[in-house]
Order: sequence, then structure tokens, then C-alpha cells
Amino acid sequence: MSSSTVPAPATAASRTHPTGDPGRSDVVIVGAGIIGLAHAFEALSSGLSVTVVERDRQPVGASVRNFGHCCISAQDGELLAVAQRSRPGWLRAAKAAGIWAEEAGTLVVARSATEAAVLEELRAERGGDEVELRTAAQTAALLGRADGADGDLVGGALLPADLRVNPREAAPGLARWVAGQPGGRVLWGTAVTGVESGTVHTTRGPVHGDRILVCVGHDLDYLFPDVAEDHEVQRCRLTMARAEAPAGFRTDSAVLTATSMLRYEAFAGRPSAARLREEVLGHSADLLEIGANVMLTRLPDGTVLLGDSHHYDATTPPFVEERTHELLTAEIARVLGVERLRILERWQGVYASSPRGPLLVRDLAPGVRAVTVTSGVGMTLSFGLAAATFDGTLAATA
Ligand SMILES: Cc1cc2nc3c(=O)[nH]c(=O)nc-3n(C[C@H](O)[C@H](O)[C@H](O)COP(=O)(O)OP(=O)(O)OC[C@H]3O[C@@H](n4cnc5c(N)ncnc54)[C@H](O)[C@@H]3O)c2cc1C
Repeated sequence: MSSSTVPAPATAASRTHPTGDPGRSDVVIVGAGIIGLAHAFEALSSGLSVTVVERDRQPVGASVRNFGHCCISAQDGELLAVAQRSRPGWLRAAKAAGIWAEEAGTLVVARSATEAAVLEELRAERGGDEVELRTAAQTAALLGRADGADGDLVGGALLPADLRVNPREAAPGLARWVAGQPGGRVLWGTAVTGVESGTVHTTRGPVHGDRILVCVGHDLDYLFPDVAEDHEVQRCRLTMARAEAPAGFRTDSAVLTATSMLRYEAFAGRPSAARLREEVLGHSADLLEIGANVMLTRLPDGTVLLGDSHHYDATTPPFVEERTHELLTAEIARVLGVERLRILERWQGVYASSPRGPLLVRDLAPGVRAVTVTSGVGMTLSFGLAAATFDGTLAATA
């Protein structure tokens, strides 16, 4: 199967329950995105029975629309610790579920002395094992630029701890694994309409469980509007595309650029970051205007995912501006050293965001908890959050 299509879940192994209670589980999880499925994996791995309830017939949310970039080293503080804890979870889950997870790291491209200074400062902070500096020629080779053309490159850095997964197969593959476990089931096409202690009410009848985890991402406001409003949950929409890769581009490392450095804490907290913002504002104000994080990742079929922009709304408008797409595509072509890219697909991704902080962990009733990542790093944090949920170290926010 081409990795460019979202595979349908294995319906033979999945179950739906037409009416009534199909049996009580230790844990009921609402939402078959990566946050719900990482929790399902963790619970099943520790011997608990799990029911995942998902309104769609396959995962189609943020978890399949992203870069598949477990962006560990670019986090800082508390999130770095969760991201580092996520890494072994991803590798265990990938092995169990037979999904692609590559220890390919991230290549951060530097095209000015200021960009290189930020990378050097990060290396001074984290050490050479976590941040490996690269010369311009090495960076050009990693990007597969024709003739090793390193004209505009100053250098780069490899962050080897980062992981790559295929976002189009990770959540569907994990869901298949969950459904195939003796204590696991996934109820597709079953929308949750309400939750109370011990019971999840669905469009197909009640589902009972001792512990309920609500992992519905940005749609938390449909089920718990007051909680979502209290945390100021917004929808962040992102413009994405998949393109044919230029002939020489073969790295499985994610590729980040200057605008990425302005968005991820590990870089944005370095002394030269303020100067970098001024510099980018000087030559690429249009990219800052669309909230760009110009980056790309390669899928196992050789095509590349590219993006992205950031726009924030309460409700997502359906319209995608062509200018946003053109700005991103042109910049990525420059990074790869090619004239233009052949675009194969475009889509809009949406994730939960909040000015109040990157995580919403809220106890809603005895035995009922909502877990939503309110920043664009849910793939990175998923397994770390799940591990912390089940060992009791994930603290609820007030
Ligand atoms: C374009 C884009 C790029 C990104 N890049 C990265 C990246 O490189 N690295 C990274 O770490 N993160 C990235 N992210 C963020 C990451 O994808 C999200 O944080 C993460 O996928 C959120 O997972 P989730 O399970 O909470 O949400 P989702 O994947 O949206 O899953 C929520 C699920 O809940 C279901 N649901 C909702 N309401 C109900 C209901 N009432 N009943 C039943 N089911 C319901 C939905 O149908 C959905 O399947 C990106 C996001 C986007 C959109």
C-alpha cells in the first residue's frame, strides 16, 4: 500500500457494538488520535482492558495530517522531559504495532551567521551529543542538493534524538494493534455525546469503564465547552502539502529552518534568537505574517511533506489562501536548492492551541480526565504523556 494514502483500519479486527453495552473496560478512551491511542497502548501494555471510542471510521484528525516529526530536542523545560520520555514509548509501540519509526534525527539548516549562532548556542547549552554541528558542505549533502551546491548555506546541526514516523500509518496502525489485543477494542463510527463517572454516552448506546480519558484534541469544546473556554482552547489551522522529492533528497531526518528556530523554545530561548527574529523580519516578513514554520519531512514512499503556516480561530474557516501555499512552497524549494516543486496533494491541518499553556489535563469528574495537547507537539509528547498518566505523575491543571 502506498504510504501516501490513509490506510483504513482493519475492520475484521475492529469491533462496533450496534446497541447497548458491549462490556465494561478498565479504561475507556474517547478519540482515536495519537493521544488516545498512546494512552490505549500504555494501558494495554500494563495489563488493563481498553475500549477506544471514535466517531470517524478511521483516524483523520491532526494525528494523520502532520509531519510525523517527534521533535524532542527542540523542546525545553517541562516539555523536554515529557518528550524525552515519549521516545522509548514510540519505539516500543512501533515495534509492537509494526509501524515505521526511524531514529533519523532532525537537520536544522543555517543560512546566515545569526542562524548558525543560535545553533552554536544550543550546542553550548545541550552538548555535542545532542546537537551535532554540520558544515555547509555536509548540510548541502544531507539536503541532496545538486552538485553539493552550498551557496547560501552557512552550516547546520543534526539533533540525533528526534524520531520520524509516518503520520499516515502511525495512528491507523496503532488502532489496528489495539483492536487486535485480547483486552482491546476500537468502536469506530461511534460519536460520544456525553461523559460522566463510569459511563461514556455514545450515538450507539452507553459504554462503561472504571476510568475514562477524553482525548478529543481541539474538539473538546463540543463536549466540554466550559472547560475549553476556561483554558482558552483555540483551533490552529496549518497549510500543508505533499510534493515529489527532488532527485537527491533522501534523508529521513526532519528538516527545520530559521522560522522553525523562532517557534521552538530550545532555539527561541538562545541569546541570538532576538537578532534572528529581526533578521527574518528584514528578509521574509511575509513568512512571519503567515506564522510560518518552514519545514519538511520525507515519507517512506520518497515523497515529502511540507509546510506550514499558523492561523488561530475559535472555529476553523474552510478556505485556504493560495498565497500561503505559494510562500511556503517557494521557500522550501529554496532550501532544497531547486527551482520548483511538483505538488501532489494539499490539505489543511487543525490542532488545539491555547495562550494558557501547552497542555490541558483536567479532572472532569471522579475517574474522568481530559488530556489535550494545546500546542503543535502532540506527536512528540504523546507517549510521554500516556506513561505519566498511568504512573500517576501527570498532574491535572486547575
Ligand atoms: C499540520 C500539522 C502539523 C503538525 N506537526 C507536528 C509535528 O511535526 N510534531 C508534533 O509533535 N506534532 C505536530 N502536530 C500536532 C499534532 O498533530 C497534534 O498535537 C496531535 O496529533 C493531537 O492528537 P490528538 O489525538 O489530541 O488529536 P486528533 O488526532 O485530532 O484526534 C482526536 C480524535 O478524537 C475524535 N473525536 C473528537 N470528538 C469526538 C467525539 N465526540 N466522539 C468520538 N470521537 C471524537 C476525532 O475524530 C479524532 O479522531 C501537527 C499538527 C498539524 C495539524
